[in-house]
Amino acid sequence: MDLAVIGAGPAGLASGIYAGRFGLNAVIFDEKISGGLVNLTPVVENYPGFEKISGMELMEKMRKQSEKYCEIHETEKVEKIVVDKEIEIVTTKKIYESKALVFASGTEKRKIGVKGEKEFLGKGVSYCATCDGPFFRNKKTVVIGGGNAAVIEALHLKNLDSDVSLIHRRNELRADKILQNQVFEKGINIIWDSVVEEIFGDNIVKGIRIKNVKDNIIKNVDIDGVFVSIGEKPNSILAKGIGVKTDEKGYITVDRNQRTNISKIYAAGDITGGLRQVVTACAEGAVAAKSAYEDLL
Ligand code: NAP
Repeated sequence: MDLAVIGAGPAGLASGIYAGRFGLNAVIFDEKISGGLVNLTPVVENYPGFEKISGMELMEKMRKQSEKYCEIHETEKVEKIVVDKEIEIVTTKKIYESKALVFASGTEKRKIGVKGEKEFLGKGVSYCATCDGPFFRNKKTVVIGGGNAAVIEALHLKNLDSDVSLIHRRNELRADKILQNQVFEKGINIIWDSVVEEIFGDNIVKGIRIKNVKDNIIKNVDIDGVFVSIGEKPNSILAKGIGVKTDEKGYITVDRNQRTNISKIYAAGDITGGLRQVVTACAEGAVAAKSAYEDLL
């Protein structure tokens, strides 16, 4: 193949579209299904051309469009990469040779790392309100975090008639102003300056222990569901393993043509850090494919 792409989120799918249209034989690999973290977003309101669309629907449209131009291998995890004359891609199914490679493997949700988080996963602890929100209609939930993702999760739960509160470790949200305004307008309760220290229950979640970081007062709150939304970390272990340069947080360093420090290896989308939006991921995926095309001429 000419171009292997790791990750079938917006960056990877856009790479596939552009690579195919440049006449490259491209294959996108994803250990899960196509769509990446956007699949977990209840609603996207800032991807031009779509005033309001669910993350899953948007990604399904992108997948369909992309597979007109390239192969998409879902549930095929890339386990090892060997860079020689060509690039050897070892997956859970086969070994492939590729002339060029795009890392578009995005990020994964960060964990809070408190007692009960692992134990109650799927029993009241969740990282996805789109997936699990409907179980919490008319129940008490909390969303932990103060960024765009946490606020969107809280708004989605509110729309599902969940009695939802946001818990944020500071006294100011990080989310975009337009989203903050929606939270205030909907009257979503915000527990400021607080961190969750433990999630407890029996077979299912029954409550959380939270600490106010200003006065150190600790209290237990009865809760049915906990949605953790405290940011992401880059999936760059494979890239680091072959000597691709990253910044101190693990995001891949690229130039403005999405080239990494290694010849014919590129990166696009959330894995490069920055704005981390669907629109920028798509643009970077397109640029990476164009660079690969030029470098393979
Ligand atoms: P984020 O912007 O990094 O926000 C993470 C939030 O979690 C921050 O409020 C942070 O608090 C808090 N936090 C971090 N570690 C914590 C800890 N250990 N305990 C408690 N709280 C903690 O992450 P995100 O909201 O997941 O968004 C990730 C990226 O995707 C961003 O670039 C975002 O703009 C983008 N995104 C965009 C949209 C959209 O535009 N529609 C939707 C979703 C995501 P501090 O504020 O104190 O640091």
